[in-house]
Amino acid sequence: MKNTIYKKINLLKKKIRKLEYNYYINNKSIVSDYNYDLLINKLINLENKYPKLCTNNSPTKKIYDTTFFNKKKIKNYHIKPMLSIKNTYCIKDIINFDKNIHRKLNINNNLNITYCCEVKIDGIALSIVYKNGKLIKATTRGNGLIGEDVTKNISGINNIPLLFNNIKHIPNIIEIRGEIYISNIDFNKLKLKNKKICNSRNLVSGFIRKHNIEEENKKYLNFINYGIGYTDNINTDSHYCILKYNEKLGLKIDINNKLCNSIKDVINYINSFNIIKKNIEYQTDGIVIKVNSIKLQNILGVSYKYPNWLISYKFTPEKKITKLIDIIYEISKNGIITPIGILLPIIIDGSKIKKISLFNINYIKKIDIMIGDYVYIKKSGNVIPNIESVLIEKRKNNLELKKVEIIKNCPSCKNNIESINNTFKCISDVYECKSKLKSYIFHFVSKNSFSIYGLGKRLIELFVNENIINDEIDIFNLHNKININNKLKKNIIESINKSKNIVFYKFIYSLNIKNIGIQTAINISKKYKSIYELIEFENNKDFLLKVVNKKTINNILTFFKNSKNIEKIKKLIKIGINIIY
Ligand SMILES: [Zn+2]
Repeated sequence: MKNTIYKKINLLKKKIRKLEYNYYINNKSIVSDYNYDLLINKLINLENKYPKLCTNNSPTKKIYDTTFFNKKKIKNYHIKPMLSIKNTYCIKDIINFDKNIHRKLNINNNLNITYCCEVKIDGIALSIVYKNGKLIKATTRGNGLIGEDVTKNISGINNIPLLFNNIKHIPNIIEIRGEIYISNIDFNKLKLKNKKICNSRNLVSGFIRKHNIEEENKKYLNFINYGIGYTDNINTDSHYCILKYNEKLGLKIDINNKLCNSIKDVINYINSFNIIKKNIEYQTDGIVIKVNSIKLQNILGVSYKYPNWLISYKFTPEKKITKLIDIIYEISKNGIITPIGILLPIIIDGSKIKKISLFNINYIKKIDIMIGDYVYIKKSGNVIPNIESVLIEKRKNNLELKKVEIIKNCPSCKNNIESINNTFKCISDVYECKSKLKSYIFHFVSKNSFSIYGLGKRLIELFVNENIINDEIDIFNLHNKININNKLKKNIIESINKSKNIVFYKFIYSLNIKNIGIQTAINISKKYKSIYELIEFENNKDFLLKVVNKKTINNILTFFKNSKNIEKIKKLIKIGINIIY
């Protein structure tokens, strides 16, 4: 018995650490916070039940250590650790939190404790140090002890003053803490420009941790102050007053902050939140409840991972039932086949959901889904929706149920497929598989390639289906082939003509060499004088050894060894493509 529990605990730990690795290092939220918290709570429960199996390196005890990674980036120690906040999804826990505080402080239950309630913004926590009123250092939360230095990216972000307002008694040193976020309006704007963006927190993290953030992206970032980490001189005993004081210094505090005189008030505030929520300009997933008195905060102190004087009440993500009507397959330009679930459209958290990724065949087996099944779809904040569970009990008398057939051929070109780690791949040449061709053409006209405006997914779909576009050369002959709205046609043709002058790295990127992203294309373009030099890659590959790895070298070799690819490049040049070096 113990042995199975031991295995279970270890498996949970591994799973949690993997998620943390993706979250802290890759900036990727693989699961929602809700699901992460569920795993942590499961682990806490098991460890409470079997205390002997609880080790010091458990994720419940030890914060994720990010210091091994990203060694190139400058790191700062926080003056005081930026600890995590204990979460709950249950009002009963909030009442118990208040009871515990009474008990720990030895205060009679009839006496109320004042709490400061703050909306939890879904962004990136930041620590900013001011010396004599001047900003000197900004650091991300990192693992709580050490974070990344982002000082050079800070100036120009909304509501981060470089100098405090000139008021009396500015402390010599003050460490301001708060959240950097993108407003919902701006997030939606950015999402329109780049459909791949799916999570505002990841986006903020990407911007702020960049080597050099672009000025135009700074305007999307906002900062809200929610407290201080350290100061050598503020004469007040209340958290709320500190926030008000910080406001005078020139920082922005949230208008939804509320001082509650009892735990009853706190619960009323939580319950009324649905009304407030509609007017909030940013993504939130809960409310942070803090003991207002600094004196009491200090007595309550901190435990292994969390301060004892605050708790966060999180809203359960919205979920709705809908039906899986069908499964279609999307095929990438490199042939990867992804099953996509077509849903009876539903609106969750304000957005309409019609499609959902089913990732791969293993996932379909794991969640045991059938076409016609009713499913719970869950979405929290600006995160991609996912299937939470299949309602097996609703299968009874459901006559539309159909088993998901495991594909044996490419759903588009019917050619053979190969299977790598549960993922299927169409092995056809890109010009022989229409779905693959569509994805490739979409890549070819995209912003980082030939940058042809107006030629969107739908038109490409139409032109490929009607054999108007059979390869990339056909794009440059569209003017005498297409019959669409005149204004649109004029715009597209103009854009095509303009695209004929293309910078070298974009041209390299457009070729669709396996695993060559835009950054690698830029690196390659710096090492070669012309496309002709690159074609002779086998003789010139030493140039690249320092900038790319062996695998990439092999991919480039394979690409240029294929005479069809050389032919393609020659054809493009022949029809007037002018590469700018
Ligand atoms: Zn195919």
